[in-house]
Amino acid sequence: MSLPSLRESISALLGLVFRSRCEVCRADSDEALCAECASGFDEPPERICAICGLPMKERSRFLNCFHCNRHKPAFKRLRSLWLYDGALQKAITLIKFPRPRVRRRELADALMAVIEQRLTTRGNPLPGFKKGDENALVLPSPMHAKRLRQRGISLAAEFARVVSDAWEVPLREDLLVKDRQTAPQVRLAREERLLNVKDSFRLLSPGEIDGKICLVVDDVATTCATLNECARTLKLAGAERVYGLTIARQP
Ligand SMILES: [Zn+2]
Ligand SMILES: [Zn+2]
Repeated sequence: MSLPSLRESISALLGLVFRSRCEVCRADSDEALCAECASGFDEPPERICAICGLPMKERSRFLNCFHCNRHKPAFKRLRSLWLYDGALQKAITLIKFPRPRVRRRELADALMAVIEQRLTTRGNPLPGFKKGDENALVLPSPMHAKRLRQRGISLAAEFARVVSDAWEVPLREDLLVKDRQTAPQVRLAREERLLNVKDSFRLLSPGEIDGKICLVVDDVATTCATLNECARTLKLAGAERVYGLTIARQP
């Protein structure tokens, strides 16, 4: 066998063993997130809670959901780009929880590219929040330093950078910090989640928040307990209004 054809055979063999696949659906794909998965994220329905964005029954007579009617949140409005299901749920889970042989970094980059596209080419999903507002700040929902070391990637921080760039709003990654490591919210019931995050956030330089419009961003909104606690902390420091934006919403 000649040298070039030997090289070709080896590279064909390596191609079979290390074929590039979509991390989500495992189909052949050069990107870690294939075009089909990336275009299949589910949009929130028309009927959502005017405050927290929770999907509501089509025929509901109420403007706000049961939870927001009972306890008005500290934030003005929360919206999510998509629902937390299908390909998006799988992509987020794969990025958040390290597993062997998953190209997490590439998958996170691919997801951020889809998000950037959504933010720059389509309508504003967050009514009332002005793009390019010089009095506004984008703040990622903070992750405790220890958890960040374990996971290596903070989707909230990556999302915050994309939002700040796409909407031309200054990014402050350093102001809001998580002091206390709390139990993962995913294992807790609603009331427990609210108590779990209470007083767990702190502002490093509260004076910089006074009179600001704050946009807190996170990966997934479930009970909104984290965002509510961030908003409470920011408003105590004089924030004029607090908005929330997440990549996904638990339906
Ligand atoms: Zn795919
Ligand atoms: Zn609500």
